[in-house]
Amino acid sequence: MKKAVFPGSFDPITKGHVQLVKRALPLFDKVVVAVGINSQKKYLFSLAQRMEWLEDVFADEPKVEIADFEGLTAHFCNKIGAGYLLRGLRNASDFDYEKTISQLNTIVGHGLETVFLISEPAYSHISSTIVREIIKGGGDAAPFLPKALKLPKL
Ligand code: ADP
Repeated sequence: MKKAVFPGSFDPITKGHVQLVKRALPLFDKVVVAVGINSQKKYLFSLAQRMEWLEDVFADEPKVEIADFEGLTAHFCNKIGAGYLLRGLRNASDFDYEKTISQLNTIVGHGLETVFLISEPAYSHISSTIVREIIKGGGDAAPFLPKALKLPKL
């Protein structure tokens, strides 16, 4: 079975993430959208909230599973028998960052392969970081978010 893990913070999930998963579905039997928990990192939304949004957004996609994990992404992939990591590339800085991580993950993850999809132009300006800034600044982030997602009052 071709199983891929799409790891991220999803703080919050954006239209960019959704588009990437949809494009990856024909390539794999299963795509596990996995929220990485990093105890050093401060998130805007709780893990429970982020997981609930992921469940809602992908409720109609039988090939998508939602999970969370602590520790190394590569170890999580090995543990659940996923041979592939899925990552998106929006620009050159994504590439520089992802290149090293992917080379490390192949070693740490015992042959784990990273599959990169280049962002469609309509989505390459969207990031969770920008969305969080808009929300914190009191702006309307709806154009960047999946329709199923209802933002709580902060
Ligand atoms: P992290 O905090 O680990 O970077 P994110 O939730 O920000 O996690 O992103 C997870 C993955 O989704 C990354 O591979 C990132 O490149 C990809 N991604 C995020 N936004 C987009 C987008 N607009 N288009 C394509 N890929 C994206």
